[in-house]
Amino acid sequence: APVQYLSVRTAPLADDLIVILAEDRSDARRVEEIRRDFVANVSHELKTPIGAVALLAEAVEQAADDPEAVVRFAGRMQQESQRLGELVKQVIELSRLQADDPLVMPQEVALDQVLASAVDSCRVDAESRQVSMTIAGESDLRVNGDAVQLATAIRNLVQNAVSYSDPGARVTVGARVRHDGEDEVIDVAVSDNGIGIPQSEFARIFERFYRVDYARSRDRGGTGLGLAIVKHIAAAHGGQVNVWSRPGHGSTFTIRLPSIGETERADVPPVAGE
Ligand code: ADP
Repeated sequence: APVQYLSVRTAPLADDLIVILAEDRSDARRVEEIRRDFVANVSHELKTPIGAVALLAEAVEQAADDPEAVVRFAGRMQQESQRLGELVKQVIELSRLQADDPLVMPQEVALDQVLASAVDSCRVDAESRQVSMTIAGESDLRVNGDAVQLATAIRNLVQNAVSYSDPGARVTVGARVRHDGEDEVIDVAVSDNGIGIPQSEFARIFERFYRVDYARSRDRGGTGLGLAIVKHIAAAHGGQVNVWSRPGHGSTFTIRLPSIGETERADVPPVAGE
């Protein structure tokens, strides 16, 4: 097979002699490598909550005469198993997305409904963190795609906006038509005025399992897979994800999607309930 991907690295043989190694990493090999890394990461990430549950179970056993401690340990066991459940769900989601690339059966999707369902699914969490959520922007926009996947992507962004904000923060979700040169595109934006992200982390946050400042993120309960899933879904829709952020001021993530176009939109029957 032709070499499609070359990885060049230098290896010092002696103080004054360096060889350059060019490795053939054709697509198949690269895919295999990515898959292996992913499996290794998943195993590693699963071990942490499983280990924690095992330790907590032991602690419960030893604290049998101390009801308060038992309740405390049981609560943490619940948290860890929820984390485990979320992790498994996201791993499955990501591998399904990777297998289905590109979209199997794109359909016309009403963004209003997708935005509303994404916001709804984060409401309980937002209320408990005292974060308010608002839907703004244009209504009645439609795109070609998979409604479930789009809702998942937007939900992940809203969930992050809520999680990485302090009490009293505001999250705004909205879609807008934009002109990008000749092309008409639709930007779905999720903004927060939360803790923000340093610019040096912009590229890495979309990597699987990457979390900015692990200690800070850890108590917010995520898996590090959310944005990798968003990136996949956007790409499968012919779109892309962008981020703007300033630490201490907040972040805006946008999913830019190709628009269906005015003429096609006019033929679409109104959505029930409009
Ligand atoms: P996680 O499950 O950790 O939220 P993601 O892939 O969704 O994983 O996000 C990766 C990291 O990017 C997060 O751990 C967090 O540090 C950072 N991040 C994502 N969204 C935001 C946001 N709206 N505000 C601040 N930090 C964010």
